[in-house]
Amino acid sequence: MTSQESETPREKTKQSRRTVGQFLQKIKLSILERTRPYRRIHYWTKKAFDELLAIRITRFFIQLIMFLLLNWVAITWILGYDPLLSSPLLLGIGWLVPTFGYIPLPYVMPHGNPAGTGVGFLDALTLIGASGVFPYLALGIALLVPAILGRSFCGWICPFGFVQDVCSLTPIRTRTPSRQTNDNLSSIKYVILGITLLFTVWLGFWTFLGIDEAFRTTLGPFATAFWSVLSPEGTFFVLIPLLALQGHISPYITRWGLMLSWGPLIWFRLIFLVIILLLALFVRRPYCRWICPTGALLGLFSRFSLLGISRRPAECPGGSCESQRCQKECPMAVKVMEAPWGRLYNGDCILCLDCRAKCPRNAIEVVFP
Ligand code: SF4
Ligand code: SF4
Repeated sequence: MTSQESETPREKTKQSRRTVGQFLQKIKLSILERTRPYRRIHYWTKKAFDELLAIRITRFFIQLIMFLLLNWVAITWILGYDPLLSSPLLLGIGWLVPTFGYIPLPYVMPHGNPAGTGVGFLDALTLIGASGVFPYLALGIALLVPAILGRSFCGWICPFGFVQDVCSLTPIRTRTPSRQTNDNLSSIKYVILGITLLFTVWLGFWTFLGIDEAFRTTLGPFATAFWSVLSPEGTFFVLIPLLALQGHISPYITRWGLMLSWGPLIWFRLIFLVIILLLALFVRRPYCRWICPTGALLGLFSRFSLLGISRRPAECPGGSCESQRCQKECPMAVKVMEAPWGRLYNGDCILCLDCRAKCPRNAIEVVFP
């Protein structure tokens, strides 16, 4: 009797199953091999979608709507008409847009934006202060808004914060700089804030005394609002729209002759903006973390704000959560896990709630006060 003849029907069934299994495994491996490039695309699409969910769809749409409202003039240029004024349905909220123009805003919006409305409080503060007048309203907003609402405007409304969030949606793996690097770079914003305020007080004092002429001539373009002349948001919201309006740049034609006539300050500003936007592809909110003086000033007064977040020890016993998602997902590199239990007092927190959205134990809650 041969070995095949001696096999029982049960063994035969097992053998044929094994053969079918091996055959299917081969097909699977071949499909996986052939679809490798497409799977990468799928991975990145999934990551982009996850990221979209991570910053929470609600926040994203609020940021988008506010970005459009704050740059409403540009929308009317693109569309060729003003939908807020032409649609009876939207007419009701049309008043919102010009209203922004009169209130110093608790986030960045450089003065002189030809495509938008409003001015950020730091710009208002420096402009008014440098003209020798005490900036009551801008200073009041700089104190009161963060003391009540923290830096929620940074997380939910600031148009330049939104631009950086959009950059971080690209399918590029974001990096987390080491703590030492992050801490070192974080001090830049306080240095910029200090220099900006120093210039403002100095210029304001000389203007008040009526002896500011020579000083203003020496400062040149920096005599208006010191930081706006260099800031990437100033380049994004003021310089580029102005250059476009003057026909220097256009999406259709490259005007090399005009571009070559630009001075070093324009080139410096454009390169600075490009660096920040490129950095934002790899690190979340680099400008907010390290450079923005508006954020630095808001952070000083938002430390003990009424609105904030709190970590509950009952849901996160002993801080033993292995994933540490709250900390890893924080765009401002706030060390949530290292903060004491309960209310988080940190001037860098922009109340974006990404930590709350990502916490697997639902241990983070919003508190007021
Ligand atoms: S830190 Fe500055 S740029 Fe960032 S969101 Fe706040 S105001 Fe805007
Ligand atoms: S601690 Fe939470 S709410 Fe604050 S910035 Fe980080 S992720 Fe956003």
